[in-house]
Amino acid sequence: MSGIPEPDEFRAEARTWLAGVARPRATGGEWGSGSDSVAVFENWTEEQEREHTARVQEWERTRYDQGWSALNWPQEYGGRSLPAYYEQLYRGEEAAFDVPHRPEIFPVTQALVAPAIGLWGTEEQKSRWLVPMLRTDELACQLFSETEAGSDLAAVRTRAVREGDDAWVLTGHKVWTSGARVATWGVAVCHTDPDVRKHAGITVFLVRMDAPGVTVRPIRQMTGGTSFNEVYLDGVRVPDTDRLGPVGEGWRVTLSVLAAERLDSGSLGLDNADRALDLAGNLSRPLTGGEQQRAADLHLRTLVQRLMGLRVTAALVAGREPGAEASVGKLYATETMRRTSDLVSELLGPSLVADTGEWGTYAWTEHLLGAPGYSIAGGTDEIQRTILAERVLGLPKEPVR
Ligand SMILES: Cc1cc2nc3c(=O)[nH]c(=O)nc-3n(C[C@H](O)[C@H](O)[C@H](O)COP(=O)(O)OP(=O)(O)OC[C@H]3O[C@@H](n4cnc5c(N)ncnc54)[C@H](O)[C@@H]3O)c2cc1C
Repeated sequence: MSGIPEPDEFRAEARTWLAGVARPRATGGEWGSGSDSVAVFENWTEEQEREHTARVQEWERTRYDQGWSALNWPQEYGGRSLPAYYEQLYRGEEAAFDVPHRPEIFPVTQALVAPAIGLWGTEEQKSRWLVPMLRTDELACQLFSETEAGSDLAAVRTRAVREGDDAWVLTGHKVWTSGARVATWGVAVCHTDPDVRKHAGITVFLVRMDAPGVTVRPIRQMTGGTSFNEVYLDGVRVPDTDRLGPVGEGWRVTLSVLAAERLDSGSLGLDNADRALDLAGNLSRPLTGGEQQRAADLHLRTLVQRLMGLRVTAALVAGREPGAEASVGKLYATETMRRTSDLVSELLGPSLVADTGEWGTYAWTEHLLGAPGYSIAGGTDEIQRTILAERVLGLPKEPVR
C-alpha cells in the first residue's frame, strides 16, 4: 500500500482485513472469549499469564506481518508511515471483532517503550530493538517504581555504577512491575550520580530479564492473582550499549515514557462500561429508578470519554502533543471504571459475589477488584490533577523535594 488512504477508505480496508482473520464480537451479554476485561489479568496465575501472552503475541505477529500494526512507524520498522491517529481508527474497527485483549505489557512495549527507543535510541539500538518489540517477539516491562519512589519517581534508589568503559552494574529493588515474568527486557530507571540534584542524576537502561542477578518475585494480589512482581537487581551487569539516552538525562527519557502512558490510558474502561450497559439492557427484571439514573450517567460518560479521545486524535492530527487532554482522559477513564463498578454492583447484587457466570464467561468481581488500581497506575489521580493545575491552569509549581 502506498500513500495515505482517506480515513473512510482505511477503515473499510481494516474491516475487510479483520473479517478475514477474526470473528465478529458477539452481542447480548456474550462477549466472545470473555478475556478482554482490563481487570481480568489481575487474577492470573503464572501459567495463565504465559498462555494468554502467547495467544496475544500470535495475534500481534499476524497484525504486524500483514501490515496492520506499527501503522505510524516507517517502513524499515514494518510500519506504513501513517499519521498517529490511524492507530485509533484501526482500534475503532478492531473493537467489533473478537480478538484477544492485550495485557498491560503489550501497550507498554509497543506504545511506551518502542516510541522512547525511537526518540532516544541510537541507530544501532533502533535496528536491534524496534522490530522485535513492535512485533512483540520481545516484550518490555517498566522497572520504574520502588517502595520509596512511586509518585516521586526521581527518588529511585536503584544505583548503576560504571564498570570500565563499556558496562554498568545495577543494584536495587523495583516493585509493582506488571508483566515482569513474560518480559525479555526491563526498562530500569536508575541513579548514576548521587551528588547532583535528584532529577539530574538519573540514567535509563534496558536490562535483560534473564540476566544473572535479576530475580522476579510475584506479588499475591487481593484478586488472588499475581500479575505484579517485585524485581531484585543484584549486581546485574548491563553493557553500555543497552543504555537508553545520555548519562544523566534519564529523567527526560522517563518523562517521555510517562507521557505516552497517559496518552494510552484514555480509552481505559470503555469496553467494560459498554458491557455494563449491555447488562442493564438485558436484565430479566425491570430496572429501578436509581439503576436507570446510573445507567444513563454511565452512557453519558462513555460518550464524553470517546469525545475526549477524539480531541486527543485532533491534537495529533494537528501535529500537537496532547498534554492536558491526556491527563483529563486518564482521570476521566478511571472514574468511568469506578462508576461501572457501582452500576454492576447494583444490577447484580449478591449474585455478583457468587460470580455465577450468568453473563457468559465474564467475571465482574475482577473488574470491581481490579478497577481501583487504575487510579494509581501510570500516575495517581492526584498526580494527574497536579499536572493539570500546573500545566493547564498555570498555578505555581509544587516545591521539588
Ligand atoms: C495496576 C498497576 C500497574 C502498575 N504497573 C507498574 C509497572 O509495570 N511498573 C512500575 O514501575 N510501576 C507500576 N505500578 C506502580 C505505580 O506506578 C505506582 O503505584 C504509582 O506511581 C504510585 O506510587 P506509589 O504506589 O508509591 O504511591 P505513592 O507515591 O506513595 O502515593 C501514595 C498516595 O499519596 C498521593 N501523593 C503522592 N505524592 C503526592 C503529591 N505530590 N501530591 C498529592 N498527592 C500525592 C498519591 O496520589 C497516593 O494517593 C503499577 C501500579 C498499578 C496500580
